[in-house]
Amino acid sequence: MPSFDALDEVFEGTRAGYSYSRNGNPTVQAFESAVAALEGASVAVAFSSGMAAIHAALLAASVQPGDTILATRDCYGLTRTLLSTYFARIGVRTELVDMTNLDAVERGLTRRPRVLYLETLSNPLLIVLDIAKLVALAARRGTTVVVDNTFASPYLLRPLEHGVQLVVHSATKYIGGHGDVTGGTVAVSDAELGRLLHEQTNLLGANLAPNEAWLCHRGLKTLPLRMARQCANALDVARWLETHAAVARVYYPGLSSHCQHDLAGRLLGGRYGAMIAFDLREGTRDAVRRLMDRFRLVTPAPTLGDLRTLVLYPAQASHRGLTPEERRAVGIGDGLVRLSVGIEDPVDLIADLERALQRAG
Ligand code: PLP
Repeated sequence: MPSFDALDEVFEGTRAGYSYSRNGNPTVQAFESAVAALEGASVAVAFSSGMAAIHAALLAASVQPGDTILATRDCYGLTRTLLSTYFARIGVRTELVDMTNLDAVERGLTRRPRVLYLETLSNPLLIVLDIAKLVALAARRGTTVVVDNTFASPYLLRPLEHGVQLVVHSATKYIGGHGDVTGGTVAVSDAELGRLLHEQTNLLGANLAPNEAWLCHRGLKTLPLRMARQCANALDVARWLETHAAVARVYYPGLSSHCQHDLAGRLLGGRYGAMIAFDLREGTRDAVRRLMDRFRLVTPAPTLGDLRTLVLYPAQASHRGLTPEERRAVGIGDGLVRLSVGIEDPVDLIADLERALQRAG
C-alpha cells in the first residue's frame, strides 16, 4: 500500500485494491468475471469446491432452522447427504420430490419451502427438468430456486435466463475441464445475493485459492471446443451402446428413446451433454467390476467432465452414501454404470467399450 490512507480506502471500498486474499484476489476475480459473463450473471463467486458452492448458495438463500428445502430426489449423492445430515442437524427439513411430476412439486410448494433445489441434468440418470415451468411455480410461492448446472455447463444452459436465482457449478468438472483442480462457483443476477456470497468467502473462508482459480480460468477458455466434441462423442457412444446385447438400457437425453428427448432438445439447444448412464443386462456389482477392470482407454475415476472418458459405478462412488433401497427408489440399480465422455477419437472409445463389454454381460 502506498500509504496508511490508501489501505483505509481499500478497506472502505473507495479505492480499487486488495487487502487480503480471502476477501479479494485479482486472479480469482478474473475467473469470477469470466464465469459471470458466461452465465449472464451480474456476480459470480468462486469457492474451494462444488460442495462449498452448494452450501454457500443455500446460506445465501437464507436457509435457516425451521425451513424446508424441496429438492430433486435425483440429486448428486453428496448433496443429498449434505441435506440429510448437516442441514437436518441444524433443523432444516428436506423433502425429496420427483421434479418431473409438476403436481407433486406444486403440492410441495404449498408448504412454502425456502428453496427449490434442482439439477439441470440429474446425476446419474440424466433426467431433464423443465426449468422454466419449475421457476414459474416457485415464483408464485416466493420460493428461491437454486440450480446445480454442473452436468450441462453454461455451454448448454444458462439457468439465470430462465429466472433461476442461484446457479451452482462444481468447477472441478466441465469448467476446469482437465481433472486437475477442485473448485466451485455460484452465479447470481441479484446484487444483494452477490454481496452475501462474497461475505461468505471472507467469513467462512471456503474461497477458491488463486492457483486453482488460474487453472479453472485456463480450462474455461476451451469449454466450447471441449463440449462440442464431448457432446458429439457422447451421442455416438450412446447410440452404439443402445445396440449392444450386454446393455439393457441407455440413459442419454440425445437418444430418441429418452422420455424427455424433446424437452432436452429445446432446453439445451440441440446438444445433449456428455454424460451417459447405462444398465448392464446382468445387473450385478460383479458384472460392473468385470467391465471396469477391462477398460484400457476409458479411465475408472469418481469424477466427470475431464478430457478423458471416465467411468464410475454410482453404487460404489457418487451414491455410496445411500442405502441400496434408497438407490433403487430413485432408479439406480446394481448394474448401472455412468460414463463421462471425453474428447478421444470415438472409434477408439467404442473399440474399448466393445472389448470391455464382451465379458460384462
Ligand atoms: N454437483 C454435482 C452434480 C456433482 O457431480 C459434484 C461432484 O461430483 C458436485 C456437485 C460436488 O462438487 P465438488 O466435488 O467440486 O465438491
